[in-house]
Amino acid sequence: MKNVEKSRQKYTESQNYLAGGVASSLRSAMKPTPLFASAGSGPRIWDVDGNAYIDYLLGYGPLILGHAHEATLVSVFEAMKRGITYGLQHEGEIELARQLTEVLPCADKVALSGSGTEAVMLALRLARAYTGKRKIVRFHGHYHGWSDTIFTAFPSSDMRQSSSGGAGDAQEQHIVPGTSGQSELALEDIILLPWNDSAVLDAALREHGHDIAAVISEPVMCNSGCVLPKPGYLEQMRELTEELGIVMILDEVITGFRLGLSGAHGKFGLKPDLVTIGKALGGGIAVSAVAGSQAIMALIENGTVSHLGTLNGNGVATSAALATIAELSKNEGAVYAKMENNAAQLVEGIRSLLVKHSIPGILNHIGPVFHMMFTLETQVEDFASFMKRDAAKYAEFAGKMLEEGVLVRSNGLWYLSAVHEEREIEETLAAVDRALANL
Ligand code: PMP
Repeated sequence: MKNVEKSRQKYTESQNYLAGGVASSLRSAMKPTPLFASAGSGPRIWDVDGNAYIDYLLGYGPLILGHAHEATLVSVFEAMKRGITYGLQHEGEIELARQLTEVLPCADKVALSGSGTEAVMLALRLARAYTGKRKIVRFHGHYHGWSDTIFTAFPSSDMRQSSSGGAGDAQEQHIVPGTSGQSELALEDIILLPWNDSAVLDAALREHGHDIAAVISEPVMCNSGCVLPKPGYLEQMRELTEELGIVMILDEVITGFRLGLSGAHGKFGLKPDLVTIGKALGGGIAVSAVAGSQAIMALIENGTVSHLGTLNGNGVATSAALATIAELSKNEGAVYAKMENNAAQLVEGIRSLLVKHSIPGILNHIGPVFHMMFTLETQVEDFASFMKRDAAKYAEFAGKMLEEGVLVRSNGLWYLSAVHEEREIEETLAAVDRALANL
């Protein structure tokens, strides 16, 4: 067993001062104890007990260039020497906004914020103001941050049985707030639908379209199984929303910059009205953006919609994002090709190891992100089939991987960075082999 005694002690100490002992609730679930990091470099991270891990958590996604990426550090440090934040405008904001409008196909204009949650809040507000309508369609298993008007609990056992029948079934799904303390009224305007079901989408939008301001969707259901949209599904969403005067928001907080500089919507050739991006945009520094059509973003320009935030567009955030874009743009996408190759090698390798150990499992994969699940299903193609995975067994596997010196998220989602090399992939596959043998 790895010695994580110092992490244990620090977690106990932390609970005396930091509510819950962690800064984001999800982190307390880590077994055997929430680890305390001492340093990260490239694709590796160290804990306070001196254990080293190859990192596939990558800060829950942002570290697309790995830890402490040199060019980002230099860019941020140079910016900080000229002042950390001004509360005035500066050229970095123009440059970042300009570059985002160049790389994101749907972007005529952008607005900058600090987190994915805030970007989604702004996108929903814009949609309501633009349409003059109230309701928001969102989908089971998608996550859009923790603000009151969108945060719903993942349904538990009842969803496991649900097939995604007609729109009627979908409407019967009880919407549960994501947390205590959240006004139930805040979710009154949410219509929660199963994702990847064309018939349900068509029926629900046609029935309630006159009340619906926006449909918000992850373009790939990264938060629940890395499930790809069925062929034509997002196109259908685009056509229906256009026809019915509904704003289509793609939440690209995970996929933005991860599937390519143009995000999933660029990759899939879609033009949503708005996208939200965060995580990889700042390479680990807090920055997010809403990007979209001139007609909608004009509501910010003409003062109809307020967009506020003390630290919005600060120089640290903009310089980090600019450095990230510069790095990811090098050699015409070579960075993405490398990440994708490494991910494919890892995915294929793990699939073979599952066969070798006779453990039924599925890896859903797109670009440098994949989800590994232990399941008897032959495919995980919606939230209902995702819920049939053996989550406890995977959490046990994640624990064994830690023992082997590989940090993976306990829910099964893996991220690769531009600095994971052949060596890390080989070490990881050897670790997976041993961890599966010990399950
Ligand atoms: N949208 C999506 C798709 C996300 O995955 C997340 C975070 N996991 C968010 C929004 C919220 O972003 P943040 O944690 O930066 O507020």
